[in-house]
Amino acid sequence: NLTMNQRLDHKSAAAFEQAKRVIPGGVNSPVRAFKSVGLTPVYVERGEGSRIYDIDGNSYIDYVLSWGPLIMGHAHPEVVEALKRTAEKGTSFGAPTELETLMAELVVERVPSVEIVRMVNSGTEATMSALRLARGYTKRSRILKFEGSYHGHADSLLIKAGSGVATLGLPDSPGVPESIASHTITVPYNDMDSVRLAFEKFGEEIACIIVEPIAGNMGVVPPQPGFLEGLREITKQYGSLLIFDEVMTGFRVHYNCAQGLYGVTPDLTCLGKVIGGGLPVGAYGGRRDIMEMMAPSGPIYQAGTLSGNPLAMAAGYTTLKLLTPDTYDLLDRLAQRLEQGFAANAARLGVPATINRVGSMVCPFFTEGPVTNYDAAKQADLGRFRAYFAGMLNRGISIAPSQYEGMFISGVHTEADIDATIAAHGEALQAL
Ligand code: PMP
Repeated sequence: NLTMNQRLDHKSAAAFEQAKRVIPGGVNSPVRAFKSVGLTPVYVERGEGSRIYDIDGNSYIDYVLSWGPLIMGHAHPEVVEALKRTAEKGTSFGAPTELETLMAELVVERVPSVEIVRMVNSGTEATMSALRLARGYTKRSRILKFEGSYHGHADSLLIKAGSGVATLGLPDSPGVPESIASHTITVPYNDMDSVRLAFEKFGEEIACIIVEPIAGNMGVVPPQPGFLEGLREITKQYGSLLIFDEVMTGFRVHYNCAQGLYGVTPDLTCLGKVIGGGLPVGAYGGRRDIMEMMAPSGPIYQAGTLSGNPLAMAAGYTTLKLLTPDTYDLLDRLAQRLEQGFAANAARLGVPATINRVGSMVCPFFTEGPVTNYDAAKQADLGRFRAYFAGMLNRGISIAPSQYEGMFISGVHTEADIDATIAAHGEALQAL
């Protein structure tokens, strides 16, 4: 009863053994190791469109998409062409290029809260920098975040975090000093009453609320009506800043990001993933008066040798230019087809399921639900998830190896891809 993934003749298994000798846990980012699903990772040889191909010659319809960035699929010809053209002129200068301004103009045009924006190299850098800015601007040190949200691995944010921290079942991370952790207040997602209580107690000391406007690191959990509006209101009332961490949702759920979808405008916005088009990029931006506090216009420091790197800007800019309002309609239609197919399978086979979806972020939870926060997400049957994950992998479907991650759909997935995925899902559930 071995899964394809565990076969001894598997080149990926050998590659993983070799990697473990020289890379901690064999991987450069924890969840890639497939540890929580008890398998060995698939080593990717190449990707094209909606598919990836492993070093054993298997192909998969891919819903990981590099954990979100590849909204127009793998190796999109226009992105590859832009990268080639740019690389020929040099890969990094550490001096300004016009492409950085073009990119910033595009972000300012599309993201309602962003009047001015700074590029960095990852989502982690974006949130870490936005946090420093919020603290420097307000001259306060406490921050409020939500349980099961992940905002990258900066010390202040690695408290009751989602994503790999949740997947691996780790307690709050060793290495984060208590003196830093004590400034972070955590409350349940979608729970305005707890937010209000926290502000009644510490309101004058809270620099900011940082929130994923759609939680994507405890599975997918949409904001309940009034939640984002409530956060906007209470931060205004107490002179705190509202930071939307749109690293995952930015340009993923709507032409104007989640803030465009819900009509709530934060003070600062963090971006990553899609804006890099598959290269390492993050960004933070927002109100001009706040952002101008950053060096060199202001005293708060943040810098980067490779920030605004030409290759990263070329891939990101080209990707954003490929996205039109029509793309989001297409993504929504494909994702809805997937959601409905999965729901029908679960109902037919009597498997307890809740399928949460916003646009092209979809998460089938193995629980009756509803799933509105991290505690509810943790009700999901992880044993079932593990078997389901192996079942999907064996049927050529690549999803994230965790119940606490969603699936991403790209503009180059086809209805045939979706239907093949629904069929695989039905078989995988049947075999549970
Ligand atoms: N914020 C959110 C909402 C994320 O989903 C992630 C990564 N999954 C990050 C921040 C961190 O981004 P990165 O991995 O690029 O550092």
